Amino acid sequence: MQTISHRFVEQVPAGKEPGILYISLEFGVATHLCPCGCESVVVTRLAPSGWSVIFDGETVTLDPSIGNWSQPCKSHYWIRNNQILWARTFSDREIELVRWRDERDHRAAGKWNRKKEAPRKKKRKNGKARRR
Ligand SMILES: [Zn+2]
Repeated sequence: MQTISHRFVEQVPAGKEPGILYISLEFGVATHLCPCGCESVVVTRLAPSGWSVIFDGETVTLDPSIGNWSQPCKSHYWIRNNQILWARTFSDREIELVRWRDERDHRAAGKWNRKKEAPRKKKRKNGKARRR
């Protein structure tokens, strides 16, 4: 079983070691190197619409799973109790769906909502709104 250890840090160091999940509560971010060995830097934002870190006093769990779709390896795995649990690789279609869902969740989380509303109304008046 592949494992990862966690390290609570104030600031994520520039030189990251593989097999370590750096967690910065201060900056609300967790970072680690892709466990497949490609060592891409994986940054997970800790937010209601991002990831949650669960610390049970000994081990950490990152929820939900991590999909490195933008990396060549396209690794997909969970970090549960400091263990890497590999999931199968998603197809391009599934990746699209996950991306779309993420975007929708971010929108639902606020911020974007108001910005999006205003221009849409304007477009409708001009009759130029494109149907989606
Ligand atoms: Zn990788």
